[in-house]
Amino acid sequence: MGQGRVYLVGAGPGDPGLITVKGLACLQQADVVIYDRLVNRELLAHTRAGCELIARRGHGQDLEHLLQVMADRAGEGLMVVRLKGGDPFLFSRGGEETEFLATRHIPFEIVPGVTSALAAPAYAGIPLTHRRLSSSVGIVTGHEVAGKARRAVNWEALSRGADTLVILMGMRKLPLIVQRLLKAGRSPETPVAVVCRGSLPDQVTLVSTLGEVAEEVRDHGLQPPAIVVVGEVVRLREKMPPVEELVDPAA
Ligand code: SAH
Repeated sequence: MGQGRVYLVGAGPGDPGLITVKGLACLQQADVVIYDRLVNRELLAHTRAGCELIARRGHGQDLEHLLQVMADRAGEGLMVVRLKGGDPFLFSRGGEETEFLATRHIPFEIVPGVTSALAAPAYAGIPLTHRRLSSSVGIVTGHEVAGKARRAVNWEALSRGADTLVILMGMRKLPLIVQRLLKAGRSPETPVAVVCRGSLPDQVTLVSTLGEVAEEVRDHGLQPPAIVVVGEVVRLREKMPPVEELVDPAA
C-alpha cells in the first residue's frame, strides 16, 4: 500500500464560500477529514460518501491523539484532510502538526485559508490599512496577555509599532488587554470594533472606544469567536454600506 498524504487545509472564517478552490478539491477527494470546532459544518457536505469524518472537540489535550490518528490513516495509504478554521498557520497549532508529520516522514501539504483576522474586519466594512490612517497591522493573540514571561505578548512594543491591531482570542481577557494598551499610550478615545462570528449570517459588530469597549462587550453579552480591531481605521466603517446589523449602542 502506498504512503498516504496529509493536507492541512484552511477552511476560511465561517462563510463556506471562503474556502479556496484548492481546499475544496482536497475536501472532495479526502478519505478522512479531521475538522476543528470553528469549521463550518456545511463544508463537510462536499466530502465523498464513505469519507471518515472526525471532529476535534477540545483545544489542547486531545492533540496528541489526533496526530496519531492522522499518522495512522496516512500510514494506511489514505488521503487525510486536516481542516482548520481560517488559515492553518495562524494561531492554529499548524506548526506543531507539521513538525509532527515531518519527524515521522509523512508527506504533507499546506493549503492556506482566508484568516478571520482579515475576513472579519472586511465583512464588517473595516479596511485594516489606509494611506492616511494606517500603514501597518499587528495580528496578536489575546490569550497570552498574562502568560509566561518568555512567550507573553509585548503589548507596549506592539502598540507603538503597529497602527492597527487585530486581536484574536481576546474576549475573555479584554479588560486586561485594554489596560495594557492604555498603559502603552493609546488614547481612551481610540476607536475599537468587536466583530463576532465574522462572515456568518449572525455576524454582529460593536463599535466603541478603547475606554469603553470592555464594559460594552460585557453589557451586550458578546461572545467569542470574535475579532477585536483597534485603531483609527475603525472610523472608515461609517462610510461603508451596512453589511449586517450593528449592536444597538442604546440597548
Ligand atoms: N486559524 C484561525 C484562528 C484560530 S484561533 C484563523 O486564521 O482565523 C481562534 C480565534 O479566531 C477565535 O478566538 C477568534 O478570535 C478568531 N475567529 C475565528 N473565526 C472567527 C469568526 N468567524 N469571527 C470572528 N473571529 C473569529
